[in-house]
Amino acid sequence: MSDKETTLDFDTDWSYSPAPQSSTEVKLRDRYNLFIGGKYQPSQTKDYLEIINPATEEKLSEVPQAGAADIQSAVEAAREAYTHTWSPMPAADRGKLIFRIARMIQERAREIAVIETMDGGKPIRESRDVDVPLAAAHFFYYAGWADKLDYAFPGRSAQPIGVAAQIIPWNFPLLMAAWKLAPALAAGNTLVLKPAETTPLTAMVLAEIVREAGIPPGVVNIVTGGGETGQILVRHPDVDKIAFTGSTAVGKEIMRTLAGSTKRYTLELGGKAANIIFADAALDQAVEGIIDSIFFNQGHVCCAGSRLFVQESVYAEVIKKLQERMEMLIVGNPLDKNTDIGAINSREQLERIQAFVEIGKQEGGEVYQSKCNLPDNGFWHAPTLFSNVSQSHRVVQEEIFGPVLAVQTFRTVDEVIEKANNTPYGLSGGVWTDKGAKIFKVTREIRAGVIWANTFNKFDPTSPFGGYKESGMGREGGVEGLMPYVRLDG
Ligand code: NAD
Repeated sequence: MSDKETTLDFDTDWSYSPAPQSSTEVKLRDRYNLFIGGKYQPSQTKDYLEIINPATEEKLSEVPQAGAADIQSAVEAAREAYTHTWSPMPAADRGKLIFRIARMIQERAREIAVIETMDGGKPIRESRDVDVPLAAAHFFYYAGWADKLDYAFPGRSAQPIGVAAQIIPWNFPLLMAAWKLAPALAAGNTLVLKPAETTPLTAMVLAEIVREAGIPPGVVNIVTGGGETGQILVRHPDVDKIAFTGSTAVGKEIMRTLAGSTKRYTLELGGKAANIIFADAALDQAVEGIIDSIFFNQGHVCCAGSRLFVQESVYAEVIKKLQERMEMLIVGNPLDKNTDIGAINSREQLERIQAFVEIGKQEGGEVYQSKCNLPDNGFWHAPTLFSNVSQSHRVVQEEIFGPVLAVQTFRTVDEVIEKANNTPYGLSGGVWTDKGAKIFKVTREIRAGVIWANTFNKFDPTSPFGGYKESGMGREGGVEGLMPYVRLDG
């Protein structure tokens, strides 16, 4: 690395011309209803949740806050469809219908990406290039498994379980729905899906797709509402399996609720991933990987690399490059195709992130924030870097779920493995080095479900995903993702 490169002074006094994605073709309804038994039904509670665009604070629509009577109808519809339609249907026919969902997501990709961005605040580039194509890919992948379960579990007979309750968070609304629906349907189960209270709109589009694809009534039911609605669903006696993705705190509550019951469950929970940069790594690529791992999608990624470990000899260089790169990040209108960092999903989440930044400062952490102009309306947070923190700091130990990175140094491989494992979580991690032996050692010894080497945040439907320790139990994706939805006889 020449001196010239390391001392480059970036001129940040320039900007791209706006390149907004048009939203005029997206026609949202003023109000959505519950999708139960193949029909749209108003909630019996008559309570509605306002859905707002976090980038503008404008109301987009409203959805019902489903109560016990609604959940009862949804579970009854799912049970009826399980017994009489979906599980007796020839598996190849089920596969064709799931395949159709994938095709229809592709056909409506642009519209869905715009809705996801308006509802969740994430940059259009991310919804367009990651969320929607990956959601379609999940349905394609599991459509293929529907009539091949005997090959997935050789020598065993795989039977569906029954009715699944599926509860998902707000960070990847359509993608998390796809992770849940696709394997459940392929294995012959029916389900009730509950999207997060702030991001239900792409699930409403999914309901339209499910209907138009010809999935029989009651196979997929979609109910909206907050935590209380989720609780009712988890407790319902005729639900056979719970699939939950969300915070560790709620995951633990669900485990307590289910203790002593015969319901099966899988939990995909929080994370505090270590991203480890060795001195022999390609540093420019590593810096790009750090940016991708924590700042893109506002840090609203369960596997975000929120703890950065940099080998001491390259610490100053990495931090300088990182700060320069942070200054180039474009924060603002999520519908603009140039935007790197969109809006924080809700006021509540923004306040949580701000509170953590205060805690970090009070604990003695040194803060660097990029000098971006944040829009006046909506919920925004500048990319933030904490240095001078140690293992005991809360910003190092707790999941913040925002664009906040805590940096520490290390000298040896063993030291960094010990530090990386020193957290209650174990969802993901990253390692950047030129040496294969270090990659194998780190990936073997860090207790995390997925560890990327010289890259970060790469997903594929064929690859299982899930955590160790307080990051959850069970796997989604791949053949392993079918497992929670089958009973193996023989
Ligand atoms: P959350 O736990 O607050 O909510 C998740 C879902 O659970 C929402 O639909 C919510 O309405 C519902 N819910 C809330 N309380 C409930 C209760 N008592 N019983 C049943 N359902 C309840 O999480 P969040 O803030 O929406 O999402 C962020 C969290 O999700 C982060 O911790 C993140 O790491 C985690 N996450 C994990 C993965 C993974 O694959 N491991 C993926 C995405 C997000």
